[in-house]
Amino acid sequence: MRKTIVTVMSGICLMPLLTACGTQDDTVKSADIFAMDTYMNLKAYGRDAEAAVAEAEARIYELEQTFSVTNDASDIGQINHAGGQPVTVSDDTVSVLQTAMQMNSESNGALCISLYPVLRAWGFTTGEYRIPAKNEIAELLQSSDDTKITVSGQTVQCPEETEIDLGAVAKGYTGDAVMKIMQEHKISSAIINLGGNVQTLGSKPDGSAWTVGVTDPFAPDTLLGTVSVTDKAVITSGNYERYFTGDNGQKYWHILDPKTGCPADNGLVSVTVIGGCGAECDALSTALFVEGTERAIQHWQNSGDFEMILVTAGGELLMTESIAANYTAKKEMPCRVVHSNEEP
Ligand code: ADP
Ligand code: MG
Repeated sequence: MRKTIVTVMSGICLMPLLTACGTQDDTVKSADIFAMDTYMNLKAYGRDAEAAVAEAEARIYELEQTFSVTNDASDIGQINHAGGQPVTVSDDTVSVLQTAMQMNSESNGALCISLYPVLRAWGFTTGEYRIPAKNEIAELLQSSDDTKITVSGQTVQCPEETEIDLGAVAKGYTGDAVMKIMQEHKISSAIINLGGNVQTLGSKPDGSAWTVGVTDPFAPDTLLGTVSVTDKAVITSGNYERYFTGDNGQKYWHILDPKTGCPADNGLVSVTVIGGCGAECDALSTALFVEGTERAIQHWQNSGDFEMILVTAGGELLMTESIAANYTAKKEMPCRVVHSNEEP
């Protein structure tokens, strides 16, 4: 009898607590997936977190299919095999192509999505690495020109020999698509990591900023520092992410300079871009890496709607003024804050 009373009483006591839990945004759902050739993690806090994460997962697989360069039936596969004919594509492809083409123009060609034949010649598309001959690169570069891609409504047209790949922008665009789903599900706190591209929604459930690590390009298993952000994408391009070492002992990495068709070697070993739009930050991180230190600073000074952390080949850390206040060093190295009105 006594036992029954105790059980009933504890049941009554727990009821308000459980109800309270159900109304607060502290339900957490996280998922690890492999897509777009990389590991991804999604974490959302909120009453609808489970449904939000499930829908986001499905959307990632959908975009993987749409953007896949190895699937002939994908939008990109169809564009690449159209023999110069117009192809009708999805809204997603139109949108990501527009971001990439705008960045191609803003970066004076540093971001170039039509480098695919050159990337293939180096083996970056298959992992069968080789150093192509100079004349082979020169010939392939003739078909690498984003200004020859036309997008009109839902129709995309490229010259016959042009082939594109969205490796530099697809993950950032996908991150934005995931965050849109989170918002539709009224999620107020979320953090996603799409193969090193981190995007955050709101702040942490306790109201504090998210802490995102910045990899040390000289020791990629360790952190150079962390940045505190809310509602921002933190996206890095580095020479340590995918590379091979030639018989000559030289390191060749996966971000190519469209001017030379060779790994971009303009003074930077990593570029982290912090901003509101994942697709733009992703496009920028690759573009600035190719542009090199001085042009990257000029690009930031002319644009201004993002922050950046540059690591030079000489071991110097450069960061724009606003992010400097939110950066915590984990490794000591010479550091310079870049201002909007200084000479690059
Ligand atoms: P990651 O995808 O490794 O995080 P990036 O966003 O910088 O890094 O994208 C690099 C990928 O973009 C390469 O693997 C390649 O597919 C493609 N790429 C390489 N060089 C360029 C370039 N100059 N412009 C556009 N895409 C590039
Ligand atoms: Mg990128």
